[in-house]
Amino acid sequence: MFVREMTEGECIALVSAGRLARLACSKDNQPYVVPIYYAYAGKCLYAFSMPGRKIEWMRANPHVCVQVDEISTRQQWRSVVMHGRYQELPDTARWHRECLHAWSLLEKHVNWWEPGGLKPAPQAIAGTSPHLFYCVYVDEMTGRAAVAGDAS
Ligand SMILES: Cc1cc2nc3c(=O)[nH]c(=O)nc-3n(C[C@H](O)[C@H](O)[C@H](O)COP(=O)(O)OP(=O)(O)OC[C@H]3O[C@@H](n4cnc5c(N)ncnc54)[C@H](O)[C@@H]3O)c2cc1C
Repeated sequence: MFVREMTEGECIALVSAGRLARLACSKDNQPYVVPIYYAYAGKCLYAFSMPGRKIEWMRANPHVCVQVDEISTRQQWRSVVMHGRYQELPDTARWHRECLHAWSLLEKHVNWWEPGGLKPAPQAIAGTSPHLFYCVYVDEMTGRAAVAGDAS
């Protein structure tokens, strides 16, 4: 097996085709990683969530790292790591279009809202839903691919 760098085009193709990512954020020197579903378009990863730890932490520190992969076998895989910045997309006049854009990309998948909209404990009934959309502006993207065989 050998490992090679992926081109920017290969990285974008992998992230565009993918759906599941690991999102890492940090606060007060403590990292926190969770799996999330996303949609990628125009250098942004769009996602849906309820309020909770990751949203609270990303509000406090918008610098995040996101990883996406495609693992075929132990010897054949591709992995992309992205560094970016969290941007919440509240349904306000300023962010309305981006918020709708996020929704239109995510809703292409059946039950798209389920993992982000559910929590283990029952949620208090409120007049408005606390759910939110956000995006990660991708500043930097690198990829590595493993291929069976040797490099020669
Ligand atoms: C395949 C998949 C897709 C998902 N897609 C989304 C998505 O699109 N949007 C979304 O918001 N969430 C998604 N989730 C759920 C996500 O991983 C988090 O569990 C959820 O967002 C709650 O995170 P929080 O920071 O708000 O946790 P909180 O409800 O604030 O709870 C924080 C506490 O719960 C623990 N915890 C939280 N999440 C997990 C976890 N996944 N595994 C183990 N312990 C956990 C933390 O360690 C911490 O102690 C997905 C999960 C999976 C497995």
